[in-house]
Amino acid sequence: MKKLIFIFFITTIMIGCNKIDNQSNNPFFTEFDTPYGVPPFDKIQKKHYLPAFEKGMKEQQEEIDSIATNTEEPTFENTSEQLERSGSTLLRVSNVFFNLQSTLADEEMDKIAQKITPQLTAHNDNIYLNEKLFKRIKKLYDNRRKLDLSAEQNRLLEKQYKQFVRSGANLTENQKAELREINKELSSAELVFGQNVLAETNSYKRFVSNEKELEGLPVDVKQAAAEAAAEAGKKGAWLFTTQKTSFIPVLQYGKNRELRKELLMAYTTRCNHDNKNDNKEVIQKIMKLRVKKAKLLGFDSPADFILDNTMAKTPQSVYSLIDDVWEAALERAKKERQELQALMTADGVKGKLKAWDWWYYAEKLRLKKYNLNEEELRPYFKLENVRKGVFDLTSQLYGLKYQKIENMPIYHPDVEVFKVLDADDSLIGILYTDYFPRASKNVGAWMSNFTEQYIQNDSNHRPVIVNVGNFTKPTAEKPSLLTMDDVETLFHEYGHAIHGLLAQSTYRSLSGTNVARDFVEMPSQVMEYWCWEPDVMKGYAKHYKTGEVMPQKLMDKIGKAATFNQGFAMTELLSAALLDMDFHTMTDTVGFDVMEFEKKSLNKIGLIPEIIVRYRSPFFKHIFEGGYSAGYYGYTWAEVFAADAYAKFKESGDIFNKRIATDFRKKILERGDSDDPIKLYKDFRGKAPDPKALLKKRGLK
Ligand SMILES: [Zn+2]
Repeated sequence: MKKLIFIFFITTIMIGCNKIDNQSNNPFFTEFDTPYGVPPFDKIQKKHYLPAFEKGMKEQQEEIDSIATNTEEPTFENTSEQLERSGSTLLRVSNVFFNLQSTLADEEMDKIAQKITPQLTAHNDNIYLNEKLFKRIKKLYDNRRKLDLSAEQNRLLEKQYKQFVRSGANLTENQKAELREINKELSSAELVFGQNVLAETNSYKRFVSNEKELEGLPVDVKQAAAEAAAEAGKKGAWLFTTQKTSFIPVLQYGKNRELRKELLMAYTTRCNHDNKNDNKEVIQKIMKLRVKKAKLLGFDSPADFILDNTMAKTPQSVYSLIDDVWEAALERAKKERQELQALMTADGVKGKLKAWDWWYYAEKLRLKKYNLNEEELRPYFKLENVRKGVFDLTSQLYGLKYQKIENMPIYHPDVEVFKVLDADDSLIGILYTDYFPRASKNVGAWMSNFTEQYIQNDSNHRPVIVNVGNFTKPTAEKPSLLTMDDVETLFHEYGHAIHGLLAQSTYRSLSGTNVARDFVEMPSQVMEYWCWEPDVMKGYAKHYKTGEVMPQKLMDKIGKAATFNQGFAMTELLSAALLDMDFHTMTDTVGFDVMEFEKKSLNKIGLIPEIIVRYRSPFFKHIFEGGYSAGYYGYTWAEVFAADAYAKFKESGDIFNKRIATDFRKKILERGDSDDPIKLYKDFRGKAPDPKALLKKRGLK
């Protein structure tokens, strides 16, 4: 999932705004006066955004100032709660703007984003570095046990305090200056890292002029390579690059072993050629700064600092969870290696299987074993049927009811709106679906909120949620027919949607999907489990022309192929997660050599040479450029919880078990971030998760 993140607390570097326009009818200036409080898309114009952002920041700054300068003793109500409730105008406009910037972008929207983003960042800093405000929060936090707070209030206070501290609020003035300096250097080093990867990726071009070298490649792959070559000025040749979409098909289908080797090596040695794009020194610098920052903030290592804000909490718990899965994955990968080696030998190729042979023989094995053809399945996956399938599933599990509503304000004609009702007909929330690609939309699929659930003055504000996808658009002849991957994506995103829809928190920032990074993918991955269950498929997998339910034979094929090549997939993934953890548990960077470090780390876990870690250090952007440092484990972590949660349904012998579903709803989905996620989970499951369920799903045990 790509979840939209907007900055919740914001600041004011007001740019004098000469309003030519009278903004008195700006729809963001007041609560939305619409059915169910949805955004009035029919009235919102682009000229409304900037004035609304500016008004929103100004209002919130005034609210913050009044909390900070209050002469009364701090109480939960006059400080913590007021901080939480501040900035409502800003939130209203941010939620709409940042959603539409991903689904209805154009130059003007980009310009507004460029203008407003640094202002929002500064606004945010002004709140978290506000000393008077922090003093009040700290006083409450230090005395929290005596304040007689509810569990939810306590959680909110702790979350607020933590956010201040992690932003450096507890440091001395000198330390704050040092932190700002580290942050500045770090962000520029991270930027350089990313630029180097981009430059190195773009610089590699392998032209093929003899078509014989392309034996085995599908026609459309060859055509794309020919077009790329022509574009690069070599008409009649074929061009391959280190972009995954370009070289992976060669690894999968190309008979030419030398070409496979050359491309894989080019990809895996990026930014490690001692040239101007080399990232080894950049990594040294980044790690040095990250270790320094962690220590400044009172932690042993960067991982200790980062994980302190997650479900895993400590490096030890990440290692112990991953180690179990790792051993099983590696063992399976070794078995897969044998099968592939046999296939290669039978193919008349002498010698040992190499990394550049794995994909090629795995593809041959897949065809031999399962004979699964996607095109055969697609007619059974009509979009509307799959969506109805997921609606029916949540009706069965949670008693929800869905009503399509017409004449609602929408932001694009492809958007559909549904009212979601509980079993007793009370309103759960409003769901927007927006499933087709267009030029103004980002790629991928995600869930987001237009408004969040919260309770104030005894009124429970129900959320407005959106699920976005990029599925095939229907044509005059054919409806939108999904691939297997699409079906899984639709269920996955709906898992996020239901997490948002069922929320029952008092406070917005504890509501729905506002949970730790390594927990948020749990409800969504749980939902995926249902999509290939024959009892669920019987309801939605119907031929779009005849209405005939998918034959059992096809359903069986899907079930069997699910665990294919999972030893490789998990080994490749987890070796990267472990490498990330090893880097970020460093406590000392003196004399540290990047490639030596990587080698030691991978040797320690016994990675086999036929599998290359998914990202080698010099191009591991997730952890050295992006926000996944000490975080690459997160998907697997959530997957372990998801597999274990779903196992509870399976163990009961009824995948639609109402009692367990109600428990899952009440103890996890409704609770958002109102308590420690481990506590929530144990409350539902009665125990900590057992990684065995994931191993079973992946076919590793
Ligand atoms: Zn997701």
